[in-house]
Amino acid sequence: MSSTLPASVASAVERIRAVLGPAGCLEDPADVEPYLVDFRRLYRGATPLVACPASTADVAAVLAICHELGVAVVPHGGNTSYCGGATPHESGDEIVLSLRRMNRVREVDAGNFSLTVDAGCLLTEVQAAAEAADRYFPLALGSEGSCQIGGNLATNAGGLNALRYGVARDLVLGLEVVLADGRVIDGLSSLRKDNTGYDLRNLFIGAEGTLGVITAASLKLFPRPRTVEPAFVAVPDMGAAVQLLARTRAATGDAVTSFEFLPRIAVELTTRHVPGVADPLDRPYEAYVLCEVSTARDDPALRSLLEGTLEQAIHDGLALDAVLAESLAQRAALWRMRESVPEGQRAEGASIKHDVSVPVAALPRFVAEATAAVLAIVPAGRLVAYGHVGDGNLHFNVSVPLGEDGTAFLAHAEAMHEAVHGIVRRYRGSISAEHGIGRLKREALARHKGHVELEVMRAIKQALDPKGILNPGKVLPEPDAGR
Ligand SMILES: Cc1cc2nc3c(=O)[nH]c(=O)nc-3n(C[C@H](O)[C@H](O)[C@H](O)COP(=O)(O)OP(=O)(O)OC[C@H]3O[C@@H](n4cnc5c(N)ncnc54)[C@H](O)[C@@H]3O)c2cc1C
Repeated sequence: MSSTLPASVASAVERIRAVLGPAGCLEDPADVEPYLVDFRRLYRGATPLVACPASTADVAAVLAICHELGVAVVPHGGNTSYCGGATPHESGDEIVLSLRRMNRVREVDAGNFSLTVDAGCLLTEVQAAAEAADRYFPLALGSEGSCQIGGNLATNAGGLNALRYGVARDLVLGLEVVLADGRVIDGLSSLRKDNTGYDLRNLFIGAEGTLGVITAASLKLFPRPRTVEPAFVAVPDMGAAVQLLARTRAATGDAVTSFEFLPRIAVELTTRHVPGVADPLDRPYEAYVLCEVSTARDDPALRSLLEGTLEQAIHDGLALDAVLAESLAQRAALWRMRESVPEGQRAEGASIKHDVSVPVAALPRFVAEATAAVLAIVPAGRLVAYGHVGDGNLHFNVSVPLGEDGTAFLAHAEAMHEAVHGIVRRYRGSISAEHGIGRLKREALARHKGHVELEVMRAIKQALDPKGILNPGKVLPEPDAGR
């Protein structure tokens, strides 16, 4: 491949080989292949080299070389992004920088309720390190066995516990970041309070690798939950779900950790396609909520509080039926159903996805309007609108009509995105609540963000990455896009 490469890229490859050695360079096509395609298989790129640094100094050296030569670099975590953020461009001129060898837990400070980890640690490894110190790291996603904490921070991941503990950004105390030119910001403080000027770390969180490479993070820990009570509740509709959320938060002293909405079709897709998933209730209902309450105390009263709340909700018509988990295995089964929805939907065929958020109270109106809008475009489309209702975040997805061709259905994607995002805008919502922008939603971002916001984003990019080598073609739209 290197014979057809621009001279600058060939030179960068050669110099990176010299710095990282064979253990830090993947070039064999079979080794490189997994880095070329995104999780949803929307994009296939090419690269002459996957650089796998083993230390922050290595990352700094790679970026210094690429900066000097003007060669693009694509940071790559666990490759679970839904927006093609970690996939190199088809041109084959971009170097992929994988953090996978940087997977050390640097320090756990149980007394300070904090830990410091390399960016390439899997999210499950971070959770396990906290648990080993009798602490809790609350970020939890369906992809937690594959995604890396660096990727979680670069995408500002949300997940299943954001309602109580916040999104990834809220869990960060400090970051170590390598800038585009190889300089290192050593911001690995584990302070709760530090008002000394601009909050630089928050620039890199959610920047999807366009402003710097996160190499390590200091993260907040919490007391480990000792009492955890999940309930699977049948509800009449989204309106009832939203009322039940407010009621359960108040009744349990804000002990609700997760509050996930599942329409009937989500239960059908998971029970049909994912082995081992079963409907926990003995008859079908229109919609469900998977609600979990927890405390850091041994608190037998929490279960009766939840039971009482649900009994009253059934009496008032906000809930129709409910089952509380009797064992850890039952809890795991409930969560397996929730976490399998993407898998069930994928197995059912093509789907058009929206990851949106609106204020929680506006969800019922949003769902009614957005449903009408997508069915006006594809009348037999099957709505799979599920997700983190406690955060006002819905995965408002539409599956291909039964028996219809996926490609013809996907031709409606742009029209559906326009329609749904237009409604999101009216509610002052977000067109990407937790999955980021990547390559997929750049044009949509141009329509969604104000002129001034985009100008400031571009000014920040110019200041931190003047040569535009970090993840080009991601996040920031072209200057005249969507206008
Ligand atoms: C089954 C499943 C369930 C999911 N559930 C959720 C969910 O509930 N909530 C949610 O928010 N997301 C969810 N996701 C999406 C995805 O897992 C998250 O976006 C995750 O945070 C991405 O992490 P990653 O390590 O895979 O990053 P990658 O996909 O490798 O990269 C994502 C972006 O971050 C950049 N990047 C990666 N590492 C670094 C670094 N060290 N420094 C700078 N930039 C970097 C990449 O360039 C890219 O732009 C889910 C995905 C799947 C497949």
